[in-house]
Amino acid sequence: MAELFKARGWEIGGEEDVSDAYVVNTCTVTALSDRKSRQYIRRMKRLNPQAAVIVMGCYPQTRPEALASMEEADVIIGTEGKERAPELAEEFLKTRERKLLTSGGRPESREYTDHQAIFGSESRTRALIKIEEGCDRFCSYCVIPYARGPVRSRPLESIVSEARGLVEAGYKEIVLSGINTALYGSERPDVSVSGIDGVIEAISALPGDFRIRIGSLEPTVVNAEYVKKLFGYDKLCHHLHLSVQSGSDRVLKAMNRHYSAAEYLDIVRVLREFDPLYGITTDIIAGFPGESEEDFEQTLELAEKAGYLHIHGFPYSVRPFTKAAEMEGQLPPHVKKERNARLGELSEKLSLEFRKSMEGSFQRVLTEERVSVDGREYIKGHASNYCPVYIPAEAAITDNEFIDVRAGEPIADGVAGIIVRT
Ligand code: SF4
Repeated sequence: MAELFKARGWEIGGEEDVSDAYVVNTCTVTALSDRKSRQYIRRMKRLNPQAAVIVMGCYPQTRPEALASMEEADVIIGTEGKERAPELAEEFLKTRERKLLTSGGRPESREYTDHQAIFGSESRTRALIKIEEGCDRFCSYCVIPYARGPVRSRPLESIVSEARGLVEAGYKEIVLSGINTALYGSERPDVSVSGIDGVIEAISALPGDFRIRIGSLEPTVVNAEYVKKLFGYDKLCHHLHLSVQSGSDRVLKAMNRHYSAAEYLDIVRVLREFDPLYGITTDIIAGFPGESEEDFEQTLELAEKAGYLHIHGFPYSVRPFTKAAEMEGQLPPHVKKERNARLGELSEKLSLEFRKSMEGSFQRVLTEERVSVDGREYIKGHASNYCPVYIPAEAAITDNEFIDVRAGEPIADGVAGIIVRT
């Protein structure tokens, strides 16, 4: 977005600056995200009441009327047509006419809108490549399919060409992202590559010292057999974000998630057999409608067995259009909050156990930034399994380097790194 504005002669300011235009790209995954977006829009308008405030993304796509009723939102775009933002900002500044460019509803487009690869000037360590848009799974709590529309896979040549450009520009980690990356190619039986493994294979073939990470992989799509395919790619990091959402088969069914707790743990087992220090992170919803204390305890049990590096827990949030919003057994906020707090405590405990188990292991770290922890300076990076690693800064290393370390004790959210070879 910044590049699009710059191309038309705009200068880019920060969010505290008095600017002529503000772009607020919204999220609507929970009610809290909606509230934060509304607060942000008001804050931007207060900074400069004369400015054009452009609101875009999933919130207006699903609830255009909610944004239309906010007089601070000058131009309202959905999840499609965002590239017109600079031109629409200029038009608003001339005419002062508010514009609503989305009528809501699920985007119908069946084509992936390709974007020009943009190389920022910021630190060249980790770059995100979007490979896919949309989701057809309709988990009963999730508004995303309504905001993002059906699955559209980006052409493979376009992904590989962006990856090649990024590697040549010096990026050492490529993160494959999308709404449901496991569905890559699923809507186009005519193309030879289906599944994210095909994308990894094509990128792996590029020359250069770099690694590949998958942003997340849906257990609604992949199973234990599928993940074994990933083990053949040396450049692929030993980390998967596998959203489990619940450990109770009853709740998983009500969520319209097509796997059981046992099937999920089978994926975990296969990963850990391949590498006992394979990093697994997850999302869990606390307090889904009808979730009993026993269901929740099954979730905690599954989490213990999975030995997560991190759990991203959040309280269930009622979302428009979704089946779960209409379900009976909606739980009071204090129950959702209390269960979410227990998830937070368990995440801390499991993360510490996992990091202690790494002690003495050899890890290849990609260095990212200089940080200070308890008054000591470190170079921080991530191991292949996504565990943060803190290397004492006195070592003569810079950011964006692969460094081999031996993992030491847990520090902050990661482990200490003792250099074995630079
Ligand atoms: S698979 Fe993910 S994005 Fe798709 S509906 Fe389910 S939770 Fe939402």
